[in-house]
Amino acid sequence: MTDLYQRHRAVLPDWLTLYYEDPIELTHGEGRYVWDAEGNKYLDFFGGVLTTMTAHALPEVTKAVSDQAARIIHSSTLYLDRPMVELAERIAQLSGIPDARVFFTTSGTEANDAALLLATAYNRSNQILAMRNSYHGRSFSAVSITGNRSWSPTSLSPLQTLYVHGGVRSRGPYATLSDAEFIDACVADLEDMLGQTRGVAALIAEPIQGVGGFTSPPDGLYAAFRQVLDRHGVLWIADEVQTGWGRTGEHFWGWEAHGQHGPPDMLTFAKGIGNGMSVGGVVARAEVMNCLDANSFSTFGGSPVTMAAGLANLTYLLEHDLQGNARRVGGMLLERLRAIGASAPHVREVRGRGLMIGIELARPGTDEADPDAASAVLEAARDGGLLVGKGGGHNTSVLRIAPPLSLTVAEAEEGAAVLEQALRGL
Ligand code: PMP
Repeated sequence: MTDLYQRHRAVLPDWLTLYYEDPIELTHGEGRYVWDAEGNKYLDFFGGVLTTMTAHALPEVTKAVSDQAARIIHSSTLYLDRPMVELAERIAQLSGIPDARVFFTTSGTEANDAALLLATAYNRSNQILAMRNSYHGRSFSAVSITGNRSWSPTSLSPLQTLYVHGGVRSRGPYATLSDAEFIDACVADLEDMLGQTRGVAALIAEPIQGVGGFTSPPDGLYAAFRQVLDRHGVLWIADEVQTGWGRTGEHFWGWEAHGQHGPPDMLTFAKGIGNGMSVGGVVARAEVMNCLDANSFSTFGGSPVTMAAGLANLTYLLEHDLQGNARRVGGMLLERLRAIGASAPHVREVRGRGLMIGIELARPGTDEADPDAASAVLEAARDGGLLVGKGGGHNTSVLRIAPPLSLTVAEAEEGAAVLEQALRGL
């Protein structure tokens, strides 16, 4: 055990997750690569979902941050903040939500917390619908809408949460249904739930579940939900913390695969938009955003230096069509990984969209989740110079791939070859 790991264990919470038996300390990055304290170089197939939407140490972002830091770092509250107004304008316009207002936070958790505050105030109710196997963060309210028990088994919920079917379709009673039958079954479940209660404030859902293992419902599920929700006056909140900014390739936002009856009432974002700087936020229709009778602020939400990072990062993403890159390179990578999976006995399913790809592992010949195999591949990939993530319900048997959106074809091929080798070693 390294000295730093010992010190970490002595002073930080036991539940602060680290990957690898010998956790690594990353010291620098460039493009799609990172280096550890021992000088090892890794291709980063996971940082895209955590922090790095475009590329590590992107000069445009680094310069915007240092220029702004050299001028002034203050709060976005009480005084006008030009970078915050500019980024809010860009995001409002991109969001697809009519008459959109943007409130900036410093994390995804806090963004969802703000969305819950708005929804519960708007509908004067603390009843929330969330999806089974969901993940929305670790604040007191966010854990109480998190169906994936990664965070909340010991927390006491301040909300009344009802969990709806639909987030995961590859397991459970609905696994064998066709897309249309699956949607009908989930809608019936939702109708049933709403018929048994009154005054639900909102439904919150990740268009593709992230921590839950990159599981995706059929397109149109949330559009079908929306029609039911509208009848009951329930708001729809899309948690785009992992699926936003073109990651899914086909769409800029994950909700767009479900937009047949219009956009959500609110969407939340965070993670990669600041390329490592803490930017999160909620976009809501003005009527919903302004329902609070409050005189409030956030000291660090919208801070000019983080907003400068977000602006530079978003500009780079749009100017270089990284959504298109995610579609092209992600499509190729998915195909390559499916071919590898077809001859790897532990691979149960390779699924995904754009640069958000999951490889679910099971004991050969069964549907039984195989978390040990996932851990073994994670370690072996690291030894081969590749960082990937893990996720998926209790069992974390899904390898998660979410590189920076500027991934090249050659890098995709390099990572796939390491994974092939790692899977072969099982
Ligand atoms: N929502 C989703 C979908 C997430 O994946 C996460 C983080 N894994 C969060 C919210 C919470 O974001 P943060 O860690 O920035 O608080």
